[in-house]
Amino acid sequence: MNEKSYKTALLSGKCPVCREGDIFKYPFSRIAHFAEMNTYCPKCGALLEPEPGFYFGAMYITYAFNTLLLIGFGLTLYYFVDLPEVVYLILIALLAAVFTPFSFRVSRVLWLYWFGGLHYKSDSET
Ligand SMILES: [Zn+2]
Repeated sequence: MNEKSYKTALLSGKCPVCREGDIFKYPFSRIAHFAEMNTYCPKCGALLEPEPGFYFGAMYITYAFNTLLLIGFGLTLYYFVDLPEVVYLILIALLAAVFTPFSFRVSRVLWLYWFGGLHYKSDSET
């Protein structure tokens, strides 16, 4: 009865096969290295980049996240704060820059879970 939750593993960026190994080399707190990924799972050895260019598709998820966030943020600012238009654009651009590492990681993890062809193997199956 040591089943790891799909949701917990996905949200914490763990390998979809063992749900223990980290997909990314460094924790999110080391923001300068946010994009560095493990090629193989450090726990079970699963290949985390199934084919060259696999993560190009994750850009669509990033695009959707950023669009929703920036439109929501922009509309909220527009309705509640009266600022010159240039200030809106600067604030939205700043938010996009700050949000990039987060959306990059989330979109790659989702892409791997949804389209990576990797399936969970519990401890009893390995
Ligand atoms: Zn693993």
